[in-house]
Amino acid sequence: MENILIFGHKNPDTDSIVSAIVLEKMERAMGVNNVKACRIGKINKETKYALEYFNVQEPEYIEEIEEGQYVMLVDHNGFDQSVKGIEKAEILKVIDHHNVAESFKTDSPLEYIAMPFGCNSTILADMCRQNNIPVDKEMAGLMLSAIISDTLLFKSPTCTSADEEVAKELAKIAEVDVKKYGLDMLKAGTDLSEFSPSELINIDSKTYSTNGVKYQVAQVNTASIEDVLKDKAEIESAMESFIKENSEDLFVFLITDIIENDSQIIVSGSRKDIVEKAFGVKLEDNMACLIGVVSRKKQVVPVIDKNI
Ligand code: MG
Ligand code: MG
Ligand code: MG
Repeated sequence: MENILIFGHKNPDTDSIVSAIVLEKMERAMGVNNVKACRIGKINKETKYALEYFNVQEPEYIEEIEEGQYVMLVDHNGFDQSVKGIEKAEILKVIDHHNVAESFKTDSPLEYIAMPFGCNSTILADMCRQNNIPVDKEMAGLMLSAIISDTLLFKSPTCTSADEEVAKELAKIAEVDVKKYGLDMLKAGTDLSEFSPSELINIDSKTYSTNGVKYQVAQVNTASIEDVLKDKAEIESAMESFIKENSEDLFVFLITDIIENDSQIIVSGSRKDIVEKAFGVKLEDNMACLIGVVSRKKQVVPVIDKNI
């Protein structure tokens, strides 16, 4: 069989990068050697911090795949969020912790592993345990980083007891203090200073299609919402350009305060009404504050979907 590419979603977060790297190692440990971890977008600052801390190389970037390419997907399944050309690929395996998207489809049977954990790396760590695959310090450190990232240091409502238990075990192997390391890593990701508004809305941005409505939800983490809002006008025009270029109906940009665990939203597009209805808010200046909302997956996307 040709090389099998393993990758997470577009605009990759720490979990998408880590899951690809770790699954490659797991496959090799189980005797599948023609696998290669890749990424389909730029590494963010938080992920960079984790990779440098544990001295692990960035996976190689791929822009597009060819027809018939064998792939394994991690941390996503929807084709909206995947690599260019995914429709024509042979998907051998999916390991994911999201709902199955409308846009996911295969012609051939496949191995599909899904668990409702807060982090995809929790599934992988669990699989290592079940299959007696040794977890070294680097793997442990990376998976721990992904769990901290996806659960915002266990504070997100997506966090499960499995995530916390696995993280505790991984921290021992990785030899880090979870709180100290976790805060340092999350803070590295809140340095937004050098991003242009159009980059800012693309750091962690996902596309969804529900009942004919195509929409975008992007998120940034910060310790100061005000700081980000200084560029509100520019951010909004970047959102509007994005919607135009990609023929979308709605764009929700979440600015999440990782200390207070609330999010400010900026909303653009012709279907802003969906957001007002979904969250029971009146947008002022295209903005609203969503108290206690930190999770796109659990607190934003399902609420929007229900109101389309
Ligand atoms: Mg992810
Ligand atoms: Mg994830
Ligand atoms: Mg995330």
